[in-house]
Amino acid sequence: MTSTILLIEDNAQNRYLTKFLLEHRGHRVLLADSGPRGIALASAAMPSLILLDIQLPGMDGHAVARVLKADPQLRGIPIIAVTSYAMVGDREKCFASGAEGYIEKPIDPDTFVDEVERYLPARPDLDPAP
Ligand code: MN
Repeated sequence: MTSTILLIEDNAQNRYLTKFLLEHRGHRVLLADSGPRGIALASAAMPSLILLDIQLPGMDGHAVARVLKADPQLRGIPIIAVTSYAMVGDREKCFASGAEGYIEKPIDPDTFVDEVERYLPARPDLDPAP
C-alpha cells in the first residue's frame, strides 16, 4: 500500500536514507528541512503520516509537534518522532508534545519501514465491507 509520508529533517544524509528506504517500499516521500517548511508542507499536502526529527535548528521538533496538534486540519495525522536523544524521559517528552510514535536514531534499515507502517492509518478502501 502506498502512502504519502512527510519527513521533516535537517540532516541531508538522514533525508536521503529515509527517503530511499520508504520509496523502496512504494511510499511517496515529501521532504522538509525545517519545522516551518514542514508545517507549511503538511497543510498543503495532507500526508498520511509525518516523520519528525526532534533536533532541528530554530524551531525544534517538540515545537513543531505542538503546532501540528493544535491545528484542527492537521491534528489527525500521526507523528513519529525520530531522534538520537538517548536521555531518560525523552520518549515521554515526545509523547507529551503530541507524537504518537518514537523511533531512535540511528535508524535500522532492516526494521525502519515496518516500524513506520505500523503507524499508518488504515485505509478505508481496503477495509472489508461491513
Ligand atoms: Mn536534526
